Amino acid sequence: MRKDFADKVSSQATSRRPARRRATSRPSLKRFIPQKWFSGLSFRGSAKGLLALVASLLLLWVVAGSGESGVASTSITQEEWIGAEAVQEANVESAWSRELIRRGDAAAPVLMRMGYSRSEAYDILRIAKPVYSLAQVRAGRYFTQHRGNAGTELYYPVDYDRVLYIGLRDKTWKAEMRPRVAFSRTAVFEGEISDSLFTDAARVGMDERTTMNLVDIFAWDIDFVRDLRNGDHFRVLTEDRFDVEGRHIGSIIRAAEFVNQRHTYRAIRYTLADGSTGYYTPEGKSMRKTYLKAPVKFSRISSRFQLRRKHPVLGFTRAHRGVDYAASSGTPIHAVGEGRVEFSGWKGGYGRFVLIRHLNSSHSTAYGHMRRYAKGIRKGKRVRQGQVIGYVGMSGLATGPHLHFEFRVHGRALNPLNIKRKPAKPVPAAQMARFRMEAEQRLQAMLAGAAKLAWG
Ligand SMILES: [Zn+2]
Repeated sequence: MRKDFADKVSSQATSRRPARRRATSRPSLKRFIPQKWFSGLSFRGSAKGLLALVASLLLLWVVAGSGESGVASTSITQEEWIGAEAVQEANVESAWSRELIRRGDAAAPVLMRMGYSRSEAYDILRIAKPVYSLAQVRAGRYFTQHRGNAGTELYYPVDYDRVLYIGLRDKTWKAEMRPRVAFSRTAVFEGEISDSLFTDAARVGMDERTTMNLVDIFAWDIDFVRDLRNGDHFRVLTEDRFDVEGRHIGSIIRAAEFVNQRHTYRAIRYTLADGSTGYYTPEGKSMRKTYLKAPVKFSRISSRFQLRRKHPVLGFTRAHRGVDYAASSGTPIHAVGEGRVEFSGWKGGYGRFVLIRHLNSSHSTAYGHMRRYAKGIRKGKRVRQGQVIGYVGMSGLATGPHLHFEFRVHGRALNPLNIKRKPAKPVPAAQMARFRMEAEQRLQAMLAGAAKLAWG
């Protein structure tokens, strides 16, 4: 959704470009009228000269009016101004073009749609191969082409950070890997829960996807479905990245803080020496733990549901040895930890029921009242943490759609709050010094907050 939006914004920008350029080109007109221009032409006194002056003014008007004046004033030499070709050159609306890779596309046909001959397309693939093989290209991505005076450039985004560059200069192709990000922008968002996380985040300008990412970062520590309270607050340091064309590549959370019921949680995004990226506490512990805090993912719908409190949302008591999550029927249910399905079927008042034994053999989790099971959830099947195992319903003894969730130790239901969640691997000791430095910088940038926007 975010991407579509970005595309829309930039395509609007493209179509508006001539008007905008015209407006900005006025002051710069002055720059290329005098000296260089006049000294090069001998129009002094003669009719021929006058004609040349009129023609050149007309030309200027055409060029200025059609945009690209910025380019013209800096890079096109005087001789070129006079020729008709130069006018045409300056008239080129935009030298950037791009071609979508469709489902089932190989690289060569895409390049041919961009105007390359079959042999040129295969030349490009051959040149690229030692750097990055284009044998498999991802549908949904684009080949972007830039044609300029200096030559032709082709770009293919390899991943979030890298772009494959293939350039044609003086009839020679050259390929290399380049950083994808041309520039980035950081922003700090800060808000307090007074209504619902989504509304409160939107109020301070945070987009929905960033809100979901924030929820994901703290999914091992905070039960966003049940435990949010008025007065909780959050701070987020985001980074938006743009490519050479100024296109939005994506947005990431660099650092985040969530204060839930007076307990402060902080996370910093960090890339380890082995290239893996994750979120860590300022002390270098992983945010990931053996169990997610909740089996239902916080969403716009679940947040509304909890607020309405249409159904009793029971906590763990002697009488009710589980925790209930009110959610609309069909909401996905996630395994809180890695394990194996021990039971999947109807079980009395629990209705459609799934029991998962976790890798630590004394722990199991139980999920009841499901509307249906997810595909392949059968006894003996391995499940990953976060995997969808079924959908919220009201089977068995239930007055309304909700998930009944139990955490069992040695088969006995215990209060999930008391379950220890072991964190995944921390930042290795050898990398701690660098981590601490980066963590400190990010936290300060986030807490400073005052500089709400910064371009870098
Ligand atoms: Zn229950």
